[in-house]
Amino acid sequence: MSSYDVTIIGSGPGGYVAAIRCAQLGMKTALIEKYDTLGGTCLNVGCIPSKALLDSSEHYHNATHTFDSHGISVSNVKADIKKMIQRKEDVVSQTCNGIKFLMDKNNIDVFHGTGSFVSNTQVEITDAKGKSQKIDSKNIILATGSKPNFFPGMEPDKKRIITSTEALKLNEIPKKMLVIGGGVIGLELGSVYARLGTQVEVIEFAKTIIPTMDVSMSKELTKVLKKEGFKFHLEHRVQAVKNKGKGVTLTALNKKGEEVSFEADYCLVAVGRKPYTDGLKLENAGVKANDRGQIEVNDHLQTNVPNIYAIGDVVRGAMLAHKAEEEGVYVAELLAGQKPHINYNLIPGVVYTWPEVASVGKTEQELSAAGNEIKIGSFPIKALGRARASMDIQGMVKIISDANTDEILGVHMIAPRAADLIMEAVVAMEYRASAEDIARICHPHPTYSEAVKEAALDATESRALHI
Ligand code: FAD
Ligand code: NAD
Repeated sequence: MSSYDVTIIGSGPGGYVAAIRCAQLGMKTALIEKYDTLGGTCLNVGCIPSKALLDSSEHYHNATHTFDSHGISVSNVKADIKKMIQRKEDVVSQTCNGIKFLMDKNNIDVFHGTGSFVSNTQVEITDAKGKSQKIDSKNIILATGSKPNFFPGMEPDKKRIITSTEALKLNEIPKKMLVIGGGVIGLELGSVYARLGTQVEVIEFAKTIIPTMDVSMSKELTKVLKKEGFKFHLEHRVQAVKNKGKGVTLTALNKKGEEVSFEADYCLVAVGRKPYTDGLKLENAGVKANDRGQIEVNDHLQTNVPNIYAIGDVVRGAMLAHKAEEEGVYVAELLAGQKPHINYNLIPGVVYTWPEVASVGKTEQELSAAGNEIKIGSFPIKALGRARASMDIQGMVKIISDANTDEILGVHMIAPRAADLIMEAVVAMEYRASAEDIARICHPHPTYSEAVKEAALDATESRALHI
């Protein structure tokens, strides 16, 4: 029987990154993945395919909406959804193959099959044909990720009532799509179809879309998406969704408690994800999960069984690929005797609409509720020369700093390429910079990054220059 220093179950961004770092640190490493391809949710049915379709649909949207103003005439522009899906699949397969290459390069033994505990030091791997083998391991890292969540009445049938996985491979452009949940998935995949001409209607339980982000972001994003054709039904409680053969009907209670109904070709259920531990046989190792299905871990990502760790979507915290990656590196370095650290306050969050929304640190609402004395600086994207040149004028940058020390506590932005712009704030906050520190840094002109400097100037002494 093969024996390893560390075995990782699950090859998503948490698992495969943990495997690479363990191997770099000299550990004999095994990686177990139940599917044929490596990369988990993120590479196969998450981050990468959704961004591929967002990029394709954005090109189509620009060709049909903004080229003309740039003086470019195009006629007969058509969206070929089948080709878009095929390109997306090519991107996914190249990216997944890249992970396989990295495993080989780092001499990591990859096993395809479902991993389950025999004991706290032995794992059985059962492949799709039912053939099984066992391996011994001193340490085990669980990185089994998550699956789409749903509530009673909205059970996906994967045909008309779909999850993100099916929404990434529809082979038609629906006339109308209902989206339950105005969170990240609903708005990103809703954007893909809205740009291709689908009437997208979002049924959201909360008072705002992206309810966990700074309220100014949800207000601004609501305006942007309404212009793109989205309709929002906030404070609606979904009662039932039914597949009617060629479409769906959805009934909900609005905030007055009245029953309202909607019809569409498809209904995308996007109300969050739940941790996935099916098939692991946690009981054989004595590993505890909590009542939300998350594997319980301490501050060192160690489960109640000392040689077993858990990372990524299957444990508490943001369900984000980069969070899972950081945790993978953390556990590998911990096992090697190092003293790693993760600053959970500085894990940025992004919504890949256009413009993108990005945020790091605390929101204004969180800081106010905690009684912090704060200053706020903001700057609209439309005041930038770069924005006028590109005609991307929607959005704003908001910097919140401590009223007494000026330390930056939160940065929230809706801007072209905000996903990349936010990193200036992350670096600044990692080094505990003040708003004035950013305000005094020379930013290249003309760029969108000037909005960060201007918002910092505004936060410093209300001395933004270009407004
Ligand atoms: P996963 O990526 O879920 O990987 C877990 C792996 O474990 C899977 O491959 C699974 O097959 C395997 N597995 C499970 N059980 C077993 C077992 N018993 N034996 C063997 N293998 C097993 N995050 C971002 O940061 N940015 C984005 O832009 C983004 N976009 C997203 C878009 C969509 C549509 C979705 C659904 C998610 C998106 N996410 C995004 C979230 C991101 O995909 C997850 O946070 C991330 O994949 C979590 O990584 P993980 O390693 O914890 O688990
Ligand atoms: P989410 O938590 O972002 O949004 C879920 C939304 O559904 C919320 O607005 C919530 O109020 C609403 N909701 C919950 N129950 C409801 C109900 N019964 N009726 C109507 N609305 C309801 O979850 P998601 O969009 O499904 O995404 C799942 C996870 O995947 C997230 O944690 C996210 O971090 C991750 N993800 C990240 C990205 C990214 O980083 N760009 C992209 C996609 C997914």
